[in-house]
Amino acid sequence: MNARRCDIAILGGGLAGGLIALALTRHRPDLSLLIIEQDARLGGNHVWSFFATDTDPEATELLAPMIEATWPDYNVHFPRHSRHLTTRYSAMTSEKFDAALRAALPEGAILTRQAVKSCSESEVMLGDGTLVQAGGVIDTRGLRDASQLTGGWQKFVGRKFKLKAPHGLERPIVMDATVEQLDGYRFMYALPFAPDVVFLEDTYYSDSSVLDRPQLEARIDAYLAARGWEAEALLGEEHGVLPVVAGGDFAGFWQDGGEDTARAGSRAGLFHSLTSYSVPDAVRFALALAHHDQLDGAGLKAFSAAWAKGHWENQSYYRMLSTLLFGAAYPEERLRILQRFYTLDPQLIERFYSGRSTPFDKFRILAGVPPIPIPRAAGTLMGLWRQPSSLKFSGV
Ligand SMILES: Cc1cc2nc3c(=O)[nH]c(=O)nc-3n(C[C@H](O)[C@H](O)[C@H](O)COP(=O)(O)OP(=O)(O)OC[C@H]3O[C@@H](n4cnc5c(N)ncnc54)[C@H](O)[C@@H]3O)c2cc1C
Repeated sequence: MNARRCDIAILGGGLAGGLIALALTRHRPDLSLLIIEQDARLGGNHVWSFFATDTDPEATELLAPMIEATWPDYNVHFPRHSRHLTTRYSAMTSEKFDAALRAALPEGAILTRQAVKSCSESEVMLGDGTLVQAGGVIDTRGLRDASQLTGGWQKFVGRKFKLKAPHGLERPIVMDATVEQLDGYRFMYALPFAPDVVFLEDTYYSDSSVLDRPQLEARIDAYLAARGWEAEALLGEEHGVLPVVAGGDFAGFWQDGGEDTARAGSRAGLFHSLTSYSVPDAVRFALALAHHDQLDGAGLKAFSAAWAKGHWENQSYYRMLSTLLFGAAYPEERLRILQRFYTLDPQLIERFYSGRSTPFDKFRILAGVPPIPIPRAAGTLMGLWRQPSSLKFSGV
């Protein structure tokens, strides 16, 4: 049997695993790392976006080499209003992520095309029979099972096009909800990567996890045509079905999350309960871990379990909003909630996305003329009205 040794084995070379490897390389160069990824490329196939206000300076610096494009502002469009917001918005891509990690990590620290078969606090068995013995193991192999949680789904297909002529789009459109409303709350998302390159994502806040990819591709093509844009080439495509969490049993989720090792990323529930986005949490966790001094198997496990539990507790307000979105609101009413949210103070919106809403923000989001009737909202929160269902994935 082949054998390898390292101080820390990181299972999964996606967003969370890659950022942990990068943060440890910077802050703990004394530790030998091994990041194990089943695919050929680190970071899968993603465009990951985030707002400048999601990250503090240390995190911003860590993410900088992975950024493909950045814009000083963005727009949103709803049937009743449009808005221009001056928060910087950046997009990372898997290509840049993979290249940045390969440039920064020491030789021998990256193992791709190698699946993890099983693991414990200090050992990892690989698909080819290699045994990795590690001082500590952290599992970042993506979300395993969310059926202990309740809520709905954010699902999407994104396509990147090279156009025959410039599109004229000056800034991202983070939500264009003037599109036909189907399957819950629907919006188109647009990133102008270059004057003649645009990324369009058709997105739904839906009760169902079923993703009809050909149908969404056709809707993206129709949006393109309606704007008078003509594609010269399709440069790439991504898709996702992400949980929007309204409640559930966090201890059960953790229990069902896989082997009894330290965890990070979506496998540890480290994402925003309402937006499903995880860049801010992934980078915060990676840096906190790199500044932690007990990095053996037991130390990593205790640190990650405590962090994930704290995150779950901090997200309770956003879960309550998800409960209103997927319980109290009928699918066709979700648009009104988002439309109203986007009339609020820009800094409140920034703090919302970064998961750092203040008590006043929390009050303000709910205050005023409600987009859904109060008795229904109260009934849902008291468990007397329609409740969000279990996040049991029913397939793509
Ligand atoms: C298409 C898409 C776009 C998204 N866009 C955004 C965005 O713009 N902003 C944002 O904040 N969030 C976004 N998200 C949500 C979230 O940030 C991502 O899902 C993020 O990649 C989750 O990070 P992770 O490290 O937990 O999982 P992943 O990035 O999925 O990483 C898990 C890795 O583990 C590997 N793996 C799995 N099993 C094994 C095994 N047995 N052995 C070895 N390797 C294994 C996988 O191949 C994968 O590379 C997006 C999600 C998707 C799917």
